[in-house]
Amino acid sequence: MSSAQRPGKTSPRLAQDICLYDPLHIPGTRRNLLSEVPPVYPEGYDGPPDYISPTACRHEYVTKTSQSFFPEPEHRWRTGVSTRLSAMCVRCRYHLQVVTSHTNGGGQYGQTSQDHVHHWMYSSGRQRDSVSAGNLSLKEQTAESFHYRCSYITCSTVVSVRIVSPVLSQDWVRLLTDPELLSQRAEEAIAAHPERLEGFTGPQPITVLEDLRSYLSNALHDPKRSKSISAINKRFMVCFGMEGQPCKDLLEFLGFSVKKEGFWEPPRPDPSEEVPYQDTLRIFLDDVVHELSALIDQRPLSEKRGHQLDHFSRSFLDDLYYTLEALDYPKATRANDFSMPGAPFYEDLGVVEDMPSAAIVEAFNRQVSVDPARTPLYFGCLKEIGALRGGDDAAIIERAVEAAYAEGKYTNEDVANAYKYFSLNSDDSSLTDENIIGRFHAFLNSTTQENESRKQLWRIGDSRRSERIKSAAEDRVSTVEQAHMYLGVDERTSDDFIITMYTTKINDSPSSKDFARRAVELIAEARKSDVLKHYLKTGEMGVGEMDVGDAYRLLQIPDRTVDDAAIVAAYTICIDEAPSQAETYNRALSIIAKEKNSPLLSTMVFGSTPQSDRVLSEWPVGLQNIGNTCYLNSLLQFYFSIRPFREMVLDFDSYKMSLDEESLSKKQVGSRKVSKKEIERSQRFLRELQVLFQNMISSSQPSVTPGQELARLTLISPSNEAAIRRMSTRSRSRSVGLGELNGMPIIGPLGPPQQEPETKEPVDLGGAATLIEAPEKLHVTGSGTSDADSEATLVSEGARPESQTLPADDKENTPPSSDEDMKDAPESIAPETKTTDGHPAPQSSPVEPPDRPPPVPPRPVPQTDRQKQLIDEVEIGAQQDVTEVINNVLFQSQCAVRPSGFDANGEQLDRVKDLFYGRTKSYISAAAGVRSKEELWCDIKVDVASGPRDIYSAIDGAFDVQKVDVEGAVAEQYGAISKLPPVLQIQVQRVQFDPVKKSSFKSTHHLELLDTIYMDRYMDTQNLEILNRRRECWQWKNKLKTLEARRDELLRKDESDKFDMPTLFDSAKIVLEDLLSMKDNPETSDEAIDIDPQLVTELEQLSQMTQTELTNVEQEMKNTQTMIATQFADSKHLAYRLYAVFVHHGSVTFGHYYIYIFDFRKEVWRKYNDNDVTEVHNAEEIFKNSDRQNPPTPYFLVYVHDALKDRLADPVCREILDAASSSLSPPPPLPPSSQAPPPPLSPAEVAVVTDGPEDIEMRLPSYEEVQIDTPSGTRTTGPDKNHTASATGQGWPSSTQADLRDVKW
Ligand SMILES: [Zn+2]
Ligand SMILES: [Zn+2]
Repeated sequence: MSSAQRPGKTSPRLAQDICLYDPLHIPGTRRNLLSEVPPVYPEGYDGPPDYISPTACRHEYVTKTSQSFFPEPEHRWRTGVSTRLSAMCVRCRYHLQVVTSHTNGGGQYGQTSQDHVHHWMYSSGRQRDSVSAGNLSLKEQTAESFHYRCSYITCSTVVSVRIVSPVLSQDWVRLLTDPELLSQRAEEAIAAHPERLEGFTGPQPITVLEDLRSYLSNALHDPKRSKSISAINKRFMVCFGMEGQPCKDLLEFLGFSVKKEGFWEPPRPDPSEEVPYQDTLRIFLDDVVHELSALIDQRPLSEKRGHQLDHFSRSFLDDLYYTLEALDYPKATRANDFSMPGAPFYEDLGVVEDMPSAAIVEAFNRQVSVDPARTPLYFGCLKEIGALRGGDDAAIIERAVEAAYAEGKYTNEDVANAYKYFSLNSDDSSLTDENIIGRFHAFLNSTTQENESRKQLWRIGDSRRSERIKSAAEDRVSTVEQAHMYLGVDERTSDDFIITMYTTKINDSPSSKDFARRAVELIAEARKSDVLKHYLKTGEMGVGEMDVGDAYRLLQIPDRTVDDAAIVAAYTICIDEAPSQAETYNRALSIIAKEKNSPLLSTMVFGSTPQSDRVLSEWPVGLQNIGNTCYLNSLLQFYFSIRPFREMVLDFDSYKMSLDEESLSKKQVGSRKVSKKEIERSQRFLRELQVLFQNMISSSQPSVTPGQELARLTLISPSNEAAIRRMSTRSRSRSVGLGELNGMPIIGPLGPPQQEPETKEPVDLGGAATLIEAPEKLHVTGSGTSDADSEATLVSEGARPESQTLPADDKENTPPSSDEDMKDAPESIAPETKTTDGHPAPQSSPVEPPDRPPPVPPRPVPQTDRQKQLIDEVEIGAQQDVTEVINNVLFQSQCAVRPSGFDANGEQLDRVKDLFYGRTKSYISAAAGVRSKEELWCDIKVDVASGPRDIYSAIDGAFDVQKVDVEGAVAEQYGAISKLPPVLQIQVQRVQFDPVKKSSFKSTHHLELLDTIYMDRYMDTQNLEILNRRRECWQWKNKLKTLEARRDELLRKDESDKFDMPTLFDSAKIVLEDLLSMKDNPETSDEAIDIDPQLVTELEQLSQMTQTELTNVEQEMKNTQTMIATQFADSKHLAYRLYAVFVHHGSVTFGHYYIYIFDFRKEVWRKYNDNDVTEVHNAEEIFKNSDRQNPPTPYFLVYVHDALKDRLADPVCREILDAASSSLSPPPPLPPSSQAPPPPLSPAEVAVVTDGPEDIEMRLPSYEEVQIDTPSGTRTTGPDKNHTASATGQGWPSSTQADLRDVKW
């Protein structure tokens, strides 16, 4: 039962050791060859490293066939069948017994044992020095036993070895063979019976032995001939003396007896001659017969002459290997060529010299896995054997040695060398960990070989079992795995992205540069990446050291005069053959392109994968990363791609809010008045955005760079601008009040979980409502226009742990800041030619109306400081939550444009609101009746922090019923969408707070996205049937929760052992069975414990019961899930198509951001990764659950209304201008989407367009209208059909036709 970790040996090694082991002659080291592996000599021992005594018997075992049992190979594996070898050494007459059995049918290796070489671990036994050894003696023999089990967990084979001293002691042997004793006995007998024994002389010892053997042999094999022996039988008396009396003790010991006077009765064993012998007397006699044969064999030749000698069975070695299941163990083909070591390398690894290298390596791995503490010893042996073998055999071992080094293994010699490396003396016992670490640090300062030093230090630390030294050596990043973890990447991450992560990391925390660099080094090393190595060397992604010659050579183009087509062909072949080297080939191609000044080749170079569709005029432009601005580029790309928004920005002058008193007094955005100053700032923002958009359309480059000022205006909202500016001027340190997590500054969008207000705020419904229990930690917030209370009220407490929060209020519904920065700003006096950062202001555009108010004048700070400050501010702004920034973009856009109308509450209506804002009605049913409240929102917040889910269940969480506290009473609250926006934005909440670790972490649970979702189920309706369906769903969900809880209980999810209930009972049962079976095994029966066999049965029943319940619960869950999933399967009127997926890759504090945007016309997804915009060839990378450790995760989703998608979504808008004209010419007015024109406008629509931006009403039919007017299933949602339908008035309800036609995009 002991599971102590011990080294083992392979069957061939055990066989050899059995042949060598002599319990009588103990080596100087006192090492027991059969129980102690490998030779570890006692402390202070300095004698010869013997593991066998020089005086040991060179055993010559013979098989005792009648005591052995060799089942046929096909029978050996059955439980209960044992292979038994009994043998005796013809020299020392020691008896050997080897028994092999399988406790469980041989386990996995039962039928395919050919390739399996057992690796025996000594488990128990009794040896010469053990106190109880004497008790084992049988007829004064002494015995030693050794029990082994195979170390492979999949193999259940056990073997027992027993070695027993000879039956015939030296005294008995002398009695039978001492010539003097013999002649003395004979003389006595002759003297007593001179006539009877006339002519007899003293017998030769061989005769005495042979006669005794004959008696016993007959007794065993031939009962008929085994007659009573007359005590005065002549021959008997000559051999054994007067009436046998001198040998009486021996004869009796051997089982002879005197039953009647004058006769010796030979022993009478059980007559059944079943083999192998079971009867102890038969076994005893057989042993004696064998010993007598051995003694006869040992007689001098002169004596043996004329005697017919028995033939011993000579099959022993084969029998032994067969018994150990190693008869055909693999052998090295060139074993004869191997040089043999002086040291016991083979013995230590538990192998023999003629095993092939692969088997040696396997044994090494076994040894290391069962006895890791002595890895350096085993590793040293492996290396030495490799060195001694040479040829292919050495190569195999060499590879294993390399692998072992790569895993951080080392030999004892390596450790000694490591001490030497630091000029330390490994024998110096006064050396402390501190000394060593000190020496290492001193060493680091004077060496460039830091990695080598760390490796050497690590070996010392590991060999001393010193975690302290090891961590000093590691500095946390010492393996490729750690490197991956550190950078938040994995082995499939591209080189490009690793560099991105590296720069992000060190931008973020310059002090981490060393670690980050080491991480990249490790990764570069592991993947043998030239790109990374080059980057490490030069700090450049670029070509650096590759010259044109290198480039041609790399692409395997021998002739530099070939044309572009040939170069492209060569390049394509290279990429095809080694896609992982694409970056390198790209570099080569770009060098050649530059040298040849070839536009064709230049085009090929852009992006990491050359595509024929990368014609610049048909491909979205990339955005250069302007620093640590995270998701800014994703955001800008997304808003650019929404055509009505883009056109509004490009045509800003037509939309611009005028700043007259009357307009200002009416202005209300986000339920609050907006100051003139805020509007001016917002208009500056839109100008900057306009410049960028124009640039994105017309640039002749594959990517453009957003301005810092735009970044600042985008990332920082007017309401917290002042606070951030104060912060950036006060201190460059980011940690001042901005929040830190795990010592890292917060960077959006996965910023800190927002702070829960200490006191719960009442729902603004005329009564105090406080959340009691929220099924999901999410809800629809009125992030645009609702009052602040609602968010605080509806979000459950668990989602809002205490943590630092942004100092500035990020909500747009707060009143304009009264900060002095704003107050002090003089209005309408400053010149308009420069913005604060000094670059040309967009208002120099000739289309600028003359009454445009001036921007805020430059603040009185030096330009250089201002530039620095701007960068600081952008950096601080980048730490805003992405939704805050999205809100900010939408808020500022609304501030900047004039209203197209006002709603009942005085809230401004405009194109932005039409596009992005929806409304939700929340219903609270309390004792007093049902109350409702409507809120405006620009995104739905869904939670995947607590577990994986699909998009519907995620959205459900925002609308499902939940319990709230209204004036002390429990009330139900649920939400329903009263207005859907054409562009439906969904915020995916992933940050969770660990209350134990007091830190936030990002959950990477999978959110299963659907290409198309139907929003019908969420719509506000008075239709009872629909309402009941929703209620039914809620009940099912409650049930599902109960079932889940029970399932988790059955699966024991909270337990660390990973056993579910049935398995737990099963394993308990197996343990009991094992314990029970100990009784049946003679080798272990004395260690067995009494167990009630009934327990086993009961455990089995319990296992079955829980298994059945688990199956039932799981089935019930499945059924319930199916019911939930299909409840609204027929409600498919309001189709929304997935359009954009914002992705974050990294941790809560750190990471990389990109966006996927779908092109409905070309039906392709594109990945916008800063300056790189590539086609996604396999949409699985967006939709499929990645099995990576830290997968990229969506954090913001955009669905667009299916019928309107072609007018809304327009990701490719390019109109490349000549470089010369673009720099000077005015921004192009409303550039058409050059490649794929939008659906043609109807005459009515055209009319609206020419009217300018006023009077646009963008409304989608309400659910009620769709329900009533459109029979389900009759309307298709294809774009063309829809357009036709809306134009001809067939599809949409008549009441909404006008609205749709009025949409001017
Ligand atoms: Zn021997
Ligand atoms: Zn095995």
